[in-house]
Amino acid sequence: MNIVILGPQGCGKGTQSEMLANRFDLEHFDMGKSLRRVAEEDTPLGKEIWEIQNVSKTLVPKRIMQQVFALKMNSIPREQGVVFDGMPRNLDQAQYFEEAVREFGRKIDRVIVISISPEESVARISKRRVCDKCKKGYVFGLDITEDDVNCESCGGNIIQRTDDTEEGVMKRLKVYHDETMPVVEYFKSKGLVSEIDGSGDEDDVFDSILETILNIEG
Ligand SMILES: [Zn+2]
Repeated sequence: MNIVILGPQGCGKGTQSEMLANRFDLEHFDMGKSLRRVAEEDTPLGKEIWEIQNVSKTLVPKRIMQQVFALKMNSIPREQGVVFDGMPRNLDQAQYFEEAVREFGRKIDRVIVISISPEESVARISKRRVCDKCKKGYVFGLDITEDDVNCESCGGNIIQRTDDTEEGVMKRLKVYHDETMPVVEYFKSKGLVSEIDGSGDEDDVFDSILETILNIEG
C-alpha cells in the first residue's frame, strides 16, 4: 500500500504519516528529513546538500531532490509500502513523482488530503518555537511560557522561526494554495483523493484516515 498525504501547514500530516507508518508497517518518507540525513553522509551528494542547506541557504534544486528520491526508493524493500509525507508539492514534481513511483514498481493507492482552516493553521503554527542551537522544538503555552528563553537541553536560545510567524504562515499557505492545490486537483481527476477534516485531535483524524484506508483495502 502506497499513500500520499497532503495538506496545509499545521494540518498534522507529519504526525498522521507517522501513525499510518506504524499501524501498517510502511516506510515514512519525509523529503526534508531524507535531505538532512543524506547531508550528514560523507559522499559528494551529501556534501553538496550540506553546502546548500548550511552555506548558500538556497532551495535544493530539482536534480538533487530527484537523486535523493531515487536513493530512498532504492533503500525500501519492494514489498514494503510507503507513506509519502507532503509530496509532491507542485505539478512539476508531480510529473516526476508519478513516473518515478511507477519505475520503482509501485502505484499510489490513495491520496489523503487533510484540511484545516487558514485561521487554524496560523493558530497552531504560531505557537511553535525552536532552539537555535540544537533545533529542539517547543510549543508555546504547552511546553514553555514567555519566561523560558533558554533551551532545557543545551541552553541555546529559544526562538520563533520567521516561517512560523503569522506573516510567515500566510506566505506558506499561499504557496500551498497556488502550487499544491493543483496537485490535489490533478489526483482528484484520477479519483484518488480522500479529503479528511483535520480540525479534531490527532486520534479523531487518524480514525477518519483509517476508515478511508480500510475501504480501499477491503
Ligand atoms: Zn537546544
